[in-house]
Amino acid sequence: MRTYEILRAWHYILRGKRPALSLEITRECPLRCPGCYAYEPFHLGGEVKLRDLADYQGDELITRVLELTGRLRPLHVSIVGGDPLVRYRELAVLVPKLTASGIHVQVVTSAFRPLPAGWADLRSLTTVVSVDGLPAEHDERRKPATYERILRNIAGGRVTVHCTITALMTGRRNYLRQFLNFWTARPEVERVWFSLFSPQRGQCPPEALSSAERQTVVAEIKSLSREFPKLEMPGRLVREFERPPQSPEKCLFAQTTSTLSADLVTPVTPCQLGGDPDCSQCGCYASMGLAAIGRYRIGGLIPVQAIFNLSAKIGARFAAAQTAPADPNPLRVLNAQTALSSARTTAPPTASRR
Ligand code: SF4
Ligand code: SF4
Repeated sequence: MRTYEILRAWHYILRGKRPALSLEITRECPLRCPGCYAYEPFHLGGEVKLRDLADYQGDELITRVLELTGRLRPLHVSIVGGDPLVRYRELAVLVPKLTASGIHVQVVTSAFRPLPAGWADLRSLTTVVSVDGLPAEHDERRKPATYERILRNIAGGRVTVHCTITALMTGRRNYLRQFLNFWTARPEVERVWFSLFSPQRGQCPPEALSSAERQTVVAEIKSLSREFPKLEMPGRLVREFERPPQSPEKCLFAQTTSTLSADLVTPVTPCQLGGDPDCSQCGCYASMGLAAIGRYRIGGLIPVQAIFNLSAKIGARFAAAQTAPADPNPLRVLNAQTALSSARTTAPPTASRR
């Protein structure tokens, strides 16, 4: 994040707004990845599931998203799913419109179909392709978005490869190095990001890392980032994996991003993961990146997080004042104004009493 982007985001927070918006743009996905949080029963709190929601297609989807972003005016929009490329015709129109309006857009996809033509030229677009490890594991988990298909679909494009590291990848020596050797050699790949699998509270799926596995992986990422320039994992970000935010209230990512599900109304809380995530085991790249920014000390003294906390309080008061209901009795307001005006004109000036 650049300084001017932080200042713009700060301006939003002071006005009680969230600078980032994440949209589950469709409830549909042709994949059935094990461990996918979007289709968990409690992703949307338990009363409704993602597949039960209404979603939109065609011009209606485009119009509704543009209306939403026009109203909320976010700095950053993340488009997720389901898989957003289910709506590739709509995205081919929508994404250039969003970037042209000054919004940075991120599309997160499994690249099960070709990326729309021209996306490689949109400088304010980041296309993130999810790859779950080496072909033996990935192709099994993400079929039909296999390696072979991804390579065909991103040809000539410009993408970021994102891999969520699971416990299943930690048992093999040099697994991450082999992964990086493959993907960083591809001309379409601008950078690689790693997240660690983030479980829900009280659950222990096979993807979740033990604390020993987590420590080993973090040390490995630190070392690999020195070796692979395309691995965009700065040391200060990687250190946050060792001390993730302890609650959504302490998570800058959760506090600065609004997430809406496929009907563009239902909120996903407390963060993009939904449900009841175990923050103490969080491995989300975005959360760690913002935590690293939060720890940065302005002038070597004041942490950004402290400034954020104060600004968020000011912003909440500002937003409450903006939405305070009008006095139901207009006469009372009129009377108060008259009384004030009368007091100004009839009371003797304080100075003349002396
Ligand atoms: S592609 Fe994404 S949304 Fe679809 S099943 Fe896999 S993880 Fe879930
Ligand atoms: S992103 Fe991670 S730390 Fe932040 S609220 Fe979600 S689970 Fe918790």
